[in-house]
Amino acid sequence: MESKKEDVRRKHIRLHMEGALTARDKVGVQDFVLLDAYTSESAFVDNLRKRFNENLIYTYIGTLLVSVNPYQELGIYTVSQMELYQGVNFFELPPHVYAIADNAYRMMCSELNNHFILISGESGAGKTEASKKILQYFAVTCPMTQSLQIARDRLLLSNPVLEAFGNARTLRNDNSSRFGKYMDIQFDFQGHCAKESSINDKNDWKTVSNAFSVIDFTEADLENLFGIIASVLHLGNIGFEEDDQGCATIPDTHEIKWIAKLLGVHPADLLEALTHRKIEAKTEEVICPLTLELSVYARDAMAKAVYGRTFTWLVNKINSSLVNKDFTRKTVIGLLDIYGFEVFDKNGFEQFCINYCNEKLQQLLIERTLKAEQAEYEMEGIEWEPIKYFNNKIICDLVEERHKGIISILDEECIRPGPATDLSFLEKLEEKVGKHAHFETRKLAGPKGRKRIGWMEFRLLHYAGEVTYCTKGFLEKNNDLLYRHLKEVLCKSKNVILRECFLRAELENRRRPPTVGTQFKNSLSSLLEILISKEPSYIRCIKPNDRKEPSKFDDFLIRHQIKYLGLMEHLRVRRAGFAYRRKYEHFLQRYKSLCPDTWPHWHGPPAEGVERLINYMGYKPEEYKLGKTKIFIRFPRTLFATEDALEF
Ligand code: ATP
Ligand code: MG
Repeated sequence: MESKKEDVRRKHIRLHMEGALTARDKVGVQDFVLLDAYTSESAFVDNLRKRFNENLIYTYIGTLLVSVNPYQELGIYTVSQMELYQGVNFFELPPHVYAIADNAYRMMCSELNNHFILISGESGAGKTEASKKILQYFAVTCPMTQSLQIARDRLLLSNPVLEAFGNARTLRNDNSSRFGKYMDIQFDFQGHCAKESSINDKNDWKTVSNAFSVIDFTEADLENLFGIIASVLHLGNIGFEEDDQGCATIPDTHEIKWIAKLLGVHPADLLEALTHRKIEAKTEEVICPLTLELSVYARDAMAKAVYGRTFTWLVNKINSSLVNKDFTRKTVIGLLDIYGFEVFDKNGFEQFCINYCNEKLQQLLIERTLKAEQAEYEMEGIEWEPIKYFNNKIICDLVEERHKGIISILDEECIRPGPATDLSFLEKLEEKVGKHAHFETRKLAGPKGRKRIGWMEFRLLHYAGEVTYCTKGFLEKNNDLLYRHLKEVLCKSKNVILRECFLRAELENRRRPPTVGTQFKNSLSSLLEILISKEPSYIRCIKPNDRKEPSKFDDFLIRHQIKYLGLMEHLRVRRAGFAYRRKYEHFLQRYKSLCPDTWPHWHGPPAEGVERLINYMGYKPEEYKLGKTKIFIRFPRTLFATEDALEF
């Protein structure tokens, strides 16, 4: 039975190998490194379009997977598909997210290394779907003990909970993740078991409430949690008015009473904290009324802080319920589902942070790819020819360097005494980094038909292209201040979750909490530390159109994403040396019929067989190199000529 299944599998693989290389005019090449015009963006788009039209949504650049969201069910995620990909050589089957998952798993088992799979792309491109497919793959294909099954089910159930609280319907995506997600999937050594998985995507009420009970949430926890969520909704309904002195008032206290009840705080305290501010004078505290504008700010800051901290509390609680204490030695595959480069008509502080994050991840990707290429050449005893590439460290430094970078300059503006504004921040930037090669402002931008830089804007020349940011709101968002007065009210809450989120110690600590920009920089640096210690795999997701429609391939939108995902640069680095490389055994197996010396059987060492074969085929010395275990072919045309010869 098993061997019959294996026969079917082998047959499928053989048919695919033959199909993939011979039908390239119709379905394109399944690896972009096989494009002759590999530096041409048009050739790249054509190849992607050909494949998309045939419902082939996956294509490789070497070992990186490019995925185009099909916006339809394609029937390629069945259990039999999963079985097909188990333990198969990466290039033997059509590109698939399962191949990436399986490859990471096999490498982890053989090298006992930790791995991570980084999934990026813009909103709606299919990142979360891809991460779910990977988890499903591990859940189905990895054998599991009973205790691990329990752990797996917990993770399965934690996903709808996180999605219920962390996702939102946006214009771009009906189920858009509003948080970056990194999870470690732990594998045990003796049984190779996947501990975690996530399948269910329905975040309807039943699933979510059932999920809560499995991941150790008590009735009281739920009551507290939903009280908080409801209070945030009510906060949005609070209306302010202005009195004769220009101070904010809340004429209708109906909502205040509800919120106070839900949060377990005193209504009068809450009302006062939303409309007043405590200022510490030398010996006493003075209570000053807030303007209408500041009261609106205080209300929104409170809603953001309450929701944000509760979400963090939820993630921590889920994480601790997933910790598996049984494992003594374990390896992990980390899965990172993170927002891609964002370029809108108006770009603010959020886009600045997101794009900085992508700049750092790009740096990691290029360095790792170059390193991997170099390591392979060295291992194979092939001379390494240095590759020219754009090192984006210069842009990362411009953003993050201590005392000199944009984040530091922003922080300085946020804390300096005296009136600081978004405009004074821009002026500081002009003064301190105005001459940087990757920075432009209204004063410095050249005219030559480029988009004008507005009065409040600056432009960064990112690795992926230029982005113009408007400084409006930078200071406020970076500060993200929750007035002390409101914090005091929340610290005294009877709601246990809220009390855990707003600790008294925070009030006693007189030091200013780190700004949002600095917190972001610090967590990004911890994330990179985790990633650097692991072996990487990459998935780049592309959204084919803005209307969530199947079969619609919008060239303009796709070109934009190819650019911002850094795909051409990656292809150039990957292709600079050799387009194709294969183990001697595999190469010989496929082409042995082309040479009388190797057909039907070659009994000598595979390397020698390959040498005979390529000599017979008339390969020129500049077309290839022979390594210790692999043949390296420089141009796709050499490979295709060999492939075409098979047909005669
Ligand atoms: P965001 O950054 O907003 O969270 P995302 O990249 O995570 O976006 P997803 O939520 O994964 O995007 O995908 C958006 C929608 O696209 C899904 O709800 C699903 O309908 C469809 N989709 C994505 N990938 C696939 C796929 N492989 N097969 C079928 N449909 C898909
Ligand atoms: Mg998502």
